[in-house]
Amino acid sequence: MLIYIEKISEKLSDPVAQRHASYKSSKEICAFINSLKIVKVELKLPDIEKILISLVYDDKLEVSKTLTTCDMTETKSENCFRAMKALTPSSALSRFPCGTCPVYRDCHIGHPISPTNCIYMKEWLNEF
Ligand code: SF4
Repeated sequence: MLIYIEKISEKLSDPVAQRHASYKSSKEICAFINSLKIVKVELKLPDIEKILISLVYDDKLEVSKTLTTCDMTETKSENCFRAMKALTPSSALSRFPCGTCPVYRDCHIGHPISPTNCIYMKEWLNEF
């Protein structure tokens, strides 16, 4: 999924056009993934959006709202996503997962949410 989103804008030379082209809507991403036939069931848009939003929380994607319909009677928008590339490598300390963890208040040793069973903590420790 990330490779598909990253490859979208590689051929454009204008940086503004490249940035605009680098966003893909969740509908386009969902259609692309279903066209690959990598799963036997058809993935629904809400399922794909949940995965995409989790990649936003992991700092792999950036999300932007785009208006699809805007008139006097209704306004509709959709989420568009683009791959994020860091300009400079971040330090290990800045990647410490607990600093941005949405459930850090519920995280305690011996509890269901714990540093001992946290996949983000394991990934971070495996970097060393
Ligand atoms: S150990 Fe994991 S679950 Fe606990 S606060 Fe850190 S990142 Fe969050």
